[in-house]
Amino acid sequence: MVCEKCGNPIKDEDRFCTYCGEPVSKVNQETQQRNLNLDEKWWTRFSKVLNITLYIPLLIIIYIVWSLNSTTLVGSLFGEYEYKNTYGKAFWYSFIVVLIYVAIMRIARKLLNNNF
Ligand SMILES: [Zn+2]
Repeated sequence: MVCEKCGNPIKDEDRFCTYCGEPVSKVNQETQQRNLNLDEKWWTRFSKVLNITLYIPLLIIIYIVWSLNSTTLVGSLFGEYEYKNTYGKAFWYSFIVVLIYVAIMRIARKLLNNNF
């Protein structure tokens, strides 16, 4: 926060301005603290909503990856083709996709936090 009289920065725990000696008004301090808390609350809430929203595409991606890989067209020895259930493959593909997605989101969030 800053001094009301001279505008120089004051530490939160200081009672007087170290530049001009003006007493720090308690009311001013509390109002600023409250505003800061409000800002923090708003930001936390917003980033929570943002976090959930960011993971919605992941559900769609997993659904696509799963449906593409859970059945595979396989050729048999007799030249016939049939669909085979390949849930193991689908599981691992989905698993890898989740890991990559989470990693990308973490990096993106770090970059965003550094910018703000
Ligand atoms: Zn001052």
